Amino acid sequence: MRYRGHGGWHEVRAQLTVGADGRHSRLRQLAGFEAVGTSPPMDVLWFRLPRKAEDPSGGMGRIGNGHIVAMLDRGDQWQIAYVIPKGGYQEIRAAGIEALRQGIVGVVPELCDRVQYLKDWSQIAFLSVESSRVPRWYRPGLLLIGDAAHIMSPVGGVGINYAVQDAVVAANVLSESLKRNSIHIWDLAEVQRQRELPIRVIQAFQSVIQQQIFARVLNSNNSTQSFTPPAFLQLPILRDLPARLIAFGIGPVHVKT
Ligand SMILES: Cc1cc2nc3c(=O)[nH]c(=O)nc-3n(C[C@H](O)[C@H](O)[C@H](O)COP(=O)(O)OP(=O)(O)OC[C@H]3O[C@@H](n4cnc5c(N)ncnc54)[C@H](O)[C@@H]3O)c2cc1C
Repeated sequence: MRYRGHGGWHEVRAQLTVGADGRHSRLRQLAGFEAVGTSPPMDVLWFRLPRKAEDPSGGMGRIGNGHIVAMLDRGDQWQIAYVIPKGGYQEIRAAGIEALRQGIVGVVPELCDRVQYLKDWSQIAFLSVESSRVPRWYRPGLLLIGDAAHIMSPVGGVGINYAVQDAVVAANVLSESLKRNSIHIWDLAEVQRQRELPIRVIQAFQSVIQQQIFARVLNSNNSTQSFTPPAFLQLPILRDLPARLIAFGIGPVHVKT
């Protein structure tokens, strides 16, 4: 591995390079891996607004006016995801920040006394929503994990969880071989084998939610139109499933000591 750091270029020789360099992974690109994926129907604007002591605690979500707003309790602030139709960011930006403020208040009227804290676009992070994975996570001397191997949709906020689980499985599978200085390609294949099914399952679940809920809401750009969740999500067994799937995945992983 050659890298540029303090004092110029350096070289590190290693049996294995683990590419944990995120959704725009340079290592994925240099290795020639192509991610294949679906095209989620939405993008997300992330920003923060003050949270008052009397506000409800915990996370909450609202649907209305063709938008979905998810609010995460961060103590004295709300971390807010404002879901917009795919490709709609430039239009929203062109309409100006006041139009955005009004859009937020249209879905969450309680925020009318603090949307003015949004003063310019630098306070708003734009997330182009993607959902993809590389067919093969490894080649001799290289293993991709986390977003480098699979970009997750923000549905359920599982990206960090699944990236950490990849790292745990990689450590469990590889540490003995690394200590013996004998990493083989099948060790790398084993990491992908253990992680691929959970990733595929959660991405399929996210895709269903995107199509059944997000696409329908974003297409119903009409404040008078009410949204009813699909009947299958109201079955008791399925009501609890999303939370369990999001929290634990289909096979929780633990560091082997
Ligand atoms: C706006 C936004 C909000 C999100 N919110 C949530 C959330 O609420 N919950 C959740 O679970 N997930 C969320 N995610 C997804 C989550 O951030 C990722 O799934 C997770 O961080 C992936 O972890 P990772 O270690 O694979 O990559 P990253 O966390 O992206 O880490 C990659 C690291 O590699 C470094 N790097 C990249 N290229 C180079 C290079 N060439 N040289 C040196 N270093 C490099 C980066 O600086 C970074 O530190 C969000 C993502 C975005 C963009």
